[in-house]
Amino acid sequence: MRIAICPGSFDPVTLGHLDIVRRASQLFDLVIVAVTVNPNKIPTFSAEKRVELIRRCIQTMPNVEVDCCDGLLADYAKQKNACALVKGLRAVTDFEYEFQMALINKELNPELETVFMTTSSEYMYLSSSAVRQVAGYGGDISKFVPKQILQDVAERFCIERNDTV
Ligand code: ADP
Repeated sequence: MRIAICPGSFDPVTLGHLDIVRRASQLFDLVIVAVTVNPNKIPTFSAEKRVELIRRCIQTMPNVEVDCCDGLLADYAKQKNACALVKGLRAVTDFEYEFQMALINKELNPELETVFMTTSSEYMYLSSSAVRQVAGYGGDISKFVPKQILQDVAERFCIERNDTV
């Protein structure tokens, strides 16, 4: 069985992420969406909430699972018997960082390949930080995040705005 991991912070998951996950699910037997925990960053959504939001969006993808990864991805991949990490590339600006990470992960786990998938052109501009920014001002994010999580994301930022006034 060929297992791939789609890692990311998914804070929150966007239509761009899901497009990559869906396309990866057509190439691999099983795709594990791994919500990574970065101890140096305070996320908007807790890791548990991010997992829950993603779970709602992958209901229609039978060979996709979601999990949390709070250690090294290279070790996590070994533990899950995964042969590849699948990463989405939006622009050349993503490339330098992703290229470095791919080389580091190869050093740490030589059996693990990093597969880069180009974004679909309609999601080129889309990032979780853009979603947070628009939602933070109460803007319409319905074209950016899946409908299953729209209300949760909008409400989270509504609470934040009310807390700051
Ligand atoms: P973001 O940069 O949106 O905060 P993450 O850190 O959660 O996203 O990214 C996880 C993976 O998804 C990375 O490989 C990233 O390049 C990819 N990705 C994020 N947004 C998109 C998009 N709109 N199209 C394609 N890939 C994307």
